[in-house]
Amino acid sequence: MAYLITKENIKNLLTDLIKLKAVFAPKKDAEDTVLFGKLSSSSEWHGDALLTHTTAKDKVYLQSETFFKIKRNKSGVTIEDGPEPEETVIFGCRPCDARGFDIIGKLFNWSNFVDEYYTKRIAKTTIICISCEKPESTCFCTSFTKGSPVNETGSDVLLTNIKDGKYLAESITDKGRKLIGDNSKYFTEASKADEEAKVTFKAEAEKKIAKKLDLAEVKRKLEPAFESVYWDTVHLPCVKCGACTFVCPTCYCFDITEKAFDNINSVRVRSWDTCMNELFTRMAGGVNPRTDTKKRFRQRFMHKFNYHVDNFKEELCTGCGRCIKACPVSIDIRKVIEEIR
Ligand code: SF4
Ligand code: SF4
Repeated sequence: MAYLITKENIKNLLTDLIKLKAVFAPKKDAEDTVLFGKLSSSSEWHGDALLTHTTAKDKVYLQSETFFKIKRNKSGVTIEDGPEPEETVIFGCRPCDARGFDIIGKLFNWSNFVDEYYTKRIAKTTIICISCEKPESTCFCTSFTKGSPVNETGSDVLLTNIKDGKYLAESITDKGRKLIGDNSKYFTEASKADEEAKVTFKAEAEKKIAKKLDLAEVKRKLEPAFESVYWDTVHLPCVKCGACTFVCPTCYCFDITEKAFDNINSVRVRSWDTCMNELFTRMAGGVNPRTDTKKRFRQRFMHKFNYHVDNFKEELCTGCGRCIKACPVSIDIRKVIEEIR
């Protein structure tokens, strides 16, 4: 069902939500960088930003998550679980970011392997996404089967600015329907014409995305390219900073460590890691299958556009273009996968 909400009422809605839940939205930090920050007032929402510098992924899949704390005492050992997730709203992410939650959600629920930490957090999170009016030159979401500036996958509510300051609000999931139902005073019913305006919005936004890749062709080329000489040179500018993976809504590499503070207290923690880091693949005995940059660089592309497609029937990428903007040596993921041979 579709509704209408004005920009003014979006701010009123945020004011109400902030009183009840942790609300994260695009917000300027002290250096004027727009990141997903916790709102203390609706006026902090920076609605003009298309893409935040990093994604909202870290609000569900924490950069560092304490699984449990261990305490040794005279009678033995006690184990205390990490903190329970709080009710959270992610407001104002874009369809490429929302789809990132859908993609990594499948990984964290693969077969019988349910990651209880991710699952608990996403269950307590409501995602209110805003369609992209002015995609950037680095965006290529339309290359993906489910990709579009108005795509609803991963969102609970999708807002589309169909007329100046008036947003079409579509409830996509039960969580979205509940949020709109609980705050119905801010919404009015949308007309057929309002819904049709979204079709025009979609066509115009998609026209602005210049780059469309043939990803079936990319996979076909990647499969026999493991030993290709292409990898010998394409990786050379890479400085192994890992920025491309840390800003990505779909990268999920992690490491699990145990840290002892003293003879009594210790913790087990999961932290983000990156396949671009040499230590990521070093095993306990010291063996490392990916010792050089070429192998690690190749892995990033093989994983995203070949192996992950084999396992999940979709790419491990949403076309947000953040890695292109973040790379200090201007490596463009689109160029790498297009030129593979
Ligand atoms: S690989 Fe790059 S373009 Fe794809 S989702 Fe990650 S950051 Fe975005
Ligand atoms: S951001 Fe660029 S330089 Fe840094 S690891 Fe990724 S590809 Fe290499």
